[in-house]
Amino acid sequence: MKGFVRMLAPVMNRLMERMSIRLRLFIAFTSILTLMLIVSAVALARFNTLTKAIDVFTTQHTRVATLAQKANQHTQSAAINLLRLLQTTDRAGRVPLYANMDKALSDANQAVTELEKSGIVSEADEEAMGLLHLRHEFETSFAETVDLIEIEGLVKAREHFDEKTDPLLRALMNSTLTVAEHRQTQMQTEARRLEIDAADAKNVILSLGLAALLVGGWLAIRIAESVARPVQDAVTVAGAVAGGKYDCSVPMGQGPEMGALMNALKVMRESIASRERRVMDLAYVDTLTNLPNRTKFMEVVTDTVSTANGAILLLDINRFAPINNALGYNVGDRVLQEVAHRLKVRCAAIGLVARLGADEFGLLIKAADEAAARGHAMEILEQLRIPMLLDAERLDIDASMGIVMFPANGTSVTLLMRRAETALALAKRRHDGYAFGSEAADEPQHEQLALIGEMRDALENGEFVAFFQPKLELTSGRIVGAEALLRWRHPEKGLIPPGLFIPFAEQTGFIREVTPRLLAQVIEQVAQWHRRGMSIVTSVNISALDLTGRRLVVETARLLAEHKLPPQLICMEITESALMDDPEVALRHLEELAALGVKLSIDDYGSGQASLGYVQRLPVHELKIDRAFVDQVNVRAKSAAIIRSTILLCHELGLSVVAEGVETADELEWLNTNDCDLVQGYHVAKPMPADAFQTWVEARKVDA
Ligand code: C2E
Ligand code: CA
Ligand code: CA
Repeated sequence: MKGFVRMLAPVMNRLMERMSIRLRLFIAFTSILTLMLIVSAVALARFNTLTKAIDVFTTQHTRVATLAQKANQHTQSAAINLLRLLQTTDRAGRVPLYANMDKALSDANQAVTELEKSGIVSEADEEAMGLLHLRHEFETSFAETVDLIEIEGLVKAREHFDEKTDPLLRALMNSTLTVAEHRQTQMQTEARRLEIDAADAKNVILSLGLAALLVGGWLAIRIAESVARPVQDAVTVAGAVAGGKYDCSVPMGQGPEMGALMNALKVMRESIASRERRVMDLAYVDTLTNLPNRTKFMEVVTDTVSTANGAILLLDINRFAPINNALGYNVGDRVLQEVAHRLKVRCAAIGLVARLGADEFGLLIKAADEAAARGHAMEILEQLRIPMLLDAERLDIDASMGIVMFPANGTSVTLLMRRAETALALAKRRHDGYAFGSEAADEPQHEQLALIGEMRDALENGEFVAFFQPKLELTSGRIVGAEALLRWRHPEKGLIPPGLFIPFAEQTGFIREVTPRLLAQVIEQVAQWHRRGMSIVTSVNISALDLTGRRLVVETARLLAEHKLPPQLICMEITESALMDDPEVALRHLEELAALGVKLSIDDYGSGQASLGYVQRLPVHELKIDRAFVDQVNVRAKSAAIIRSTILLCHELGLSVVAEGVETADELEWLNTNDCDLVQGYHVAKPMPADAFQTWVEARKVDA
């Protein structure tokens, strides 16, 4: 039985799992009800049998016994009347006795006939048949005795009675008694058999009831299990999904409802996972290039710099704004995508590439030393310089990179990123492709950072002052101009050169606060000199950020008016980097400045920072040749050729030429011979404070 159940269980399970829960419950309840019905039916049938048996037993045996006894009683009564007859000699006295006897005999016959006719006694019932037979014999003998009374007289009849009838009567009585006794015994046996039957029936019903209970219970457990297990599975899956484990396996879910539930769970899991992926993507991926974004980059960098060594490279596309402006944002986007693609292809194996902002990308390379970082930077730049074909149009782009090494340049992400920005700015200024963080500053980094923090206070406290370096006009030998150069008079550190703080001021945007203040100082100073009869055209250096808004234009106009200074005594020196980010806006503001009447000068010409490009659009007055070309121009043929042709070109365009960084008399002599208009340099004078400058100029006049 156990083995059978063990064999059946898996088959049942499989069958059940395929069924719907509704069907399973239906089958279970139907099975239990059917079992109950069977038990009831069997019980009923058994009780019917028992009742019938009892019926037969009571009616038949009782009836046989009763009828036999009745027949005997009447027979006995007839016999008693016969005996009386035999003793009654008077014939008239015998008449009523005959009547009594006949009545008794007919009653006895009736009982016997009833017994014969009833069918209760069958021919097989030898005892009963014997009894009947005996009865017939007795009846015949009885009749003979009666006949003998009237024919042969009482004596003969009495003899016959004693010889034959009386013995037969006794035999009949005995036989009836035996039959009754036998019937009694049979009844007892029958009763015992019925008792056993009843006990059997009880057992069968009990067993069936128990079996029904077991089967019902088993079915109930299986069904409960078959429903509970998948529900438990579903709960487990839901728990896993809630815990963010989207790779957990979802069971098939047997049966239509569970299948549907598991399917729904699967769909839910997948849609939650994809939504989360989307959210993660939005949080961590740049949608334009599909590269990791700044957040992701910063996270990875944070995890990396504290434990490993390597390099962070910041890359910025040169002159990206003009591409965007001239060719449209659509093209700009495609350029960024192409750059991202090239970076991805080139750097997939060496580290993490991310897009950090507009046209800025970041690269993290683990376990790289400076030489390796330099190698990668050069290769990346080379890759980016390969012309792009956008809709069959060729586009040349270039980029600059700032590189910092960790832990050499720091272990804090903020510090490293700031140094990388500084290096990037340096690379841009130098037009060098790339620069290292270590080159970007001479002072220890933390001191520079401290300086940035102090800059705001310094501005409020008037620690930023203008120094003036004279410009000498070669034809007249007079000082006609000056360049205002920023100095930070630090209360503890002394005079700080602009190279140490201007790059940071430019980076942080703080330069926008500085330039107007310096301009105010300069305009006030120049106006004061002007009132004293000293006309010095003074230049102020303008940064790219100064040209992003109208503030400089507004301030210049206001200050000129306030100090009633002729605008042509102020000159703005600009380099190409001033136009780098958004040339349209920068050019518009320069046009506005030129419209105020101030002069414009192209600074650092030849260093790659300046070009004659603006001359077409702006009323430029002056061009300053970078000191790299001025250095030993009297002996260096190439520099000489460049300066000579630049002077010719400028004169052709109506620009005056300033040679910067003139350090020797020979250089000055050569420049004079070659028609250079103005010179500026240590050979003439170093930059000096305003009062020193004034004294110096006045002393020169006296000398002359
Ligand atoms: P720059 O505009 O090219 O300024 C000329 C620089 O050359 C000055 O350096 C000046 O001191 C230096 N110089 C002049 N004559 C000689 C010479 O004979 N030999 C050598 N070796 N150097 C000479 P400085 O003052 O250190 O300024 C450096 C740079 O800082 C400037 O280069 C300019 O780009 C920037 N700068 C200075 N002041 C300002 C300012 O007020 N605003 C902005 N935006 N930039 C400024
Ligand atoms: Ca300058
Ligand atoms: Ca210059």
